[in-house]
Amino acid sequence: MEDVLFPSLRLSTHERALYVHLVRHSRLEGRRTVRVSRNDLACASGLCSSTARHYLRTLARKQVVRFLERSGRGCLLEVLLPNEIVAGLAHSPASKELVFAVREVARDSAGQPRAWPRTDHFRSPRFRARILKRDAGQCFYCLRPLRPGEWTLDHVNPACRGGSDAASNVVASCIPCNWEKGQTSAEDFLRGLRRKKILSPAQLRSRLRRLRSM
Ligand SMILES: [Zn+2]
Repeated sequence: MEDVLFPSLRLSTHERALYVHLVRHSRLEGRRTVRVSRNDLACASGLCSSTARHYLRTLARKQVVRFLERSGRGCLLEVLLPNEIVAGLAHSPASKELVFAVREVARDSAGQPRAWPRTDHFRSPRFRARILKRDAGQCFYCLRPLRPGEWTLDHVNPACRGGSDAASNVVASCIPCNWEKGQTSAEDFLRGLRRKKILSPAQLRSRLRRLRSM
């Protein structure tokens, strides 16, 4: 994985974490397939569910996993091993595009349905701009100013605990806070930032007030 697969496909940290999780629960248990729901995947990887399913789609486009079936119980995935993936790439005339494919597609190259229905508003630039403006261009948690392309939307109540994609449950966050927060509640995460002296007592109080008003 580390020597050949990850560098040749330029897998991101999130994609690597998801891939390792999927391999553990399929091939290392003697099966080619695994059934996952969006929330399982989010809880297991420590990502919010929309981010987890986004990276699952990018893994499918890089032909690391294949979607076999989608149902109310989640997606049935075939998980390929590094040697199978690399051998497949060598014979694929489209390998260059696959490596760099990042655009959203409704169906993959084999005509299979995409992973999950997109929550369009959640990824829309307008929705993101609205949340960024509401949060004054700062990370909701650590209050650092956010730079374009270096921030994300974070679920205050994690999606795997039933938190919705609505604006009242979503804040602008820097990538390190989003990553570290994982499935922690927003209140516990803010208190942790206070303990690390990233927030002053007054800032913590104002954050908690905002949280309660959301
Ligand atoms: Zn932050």
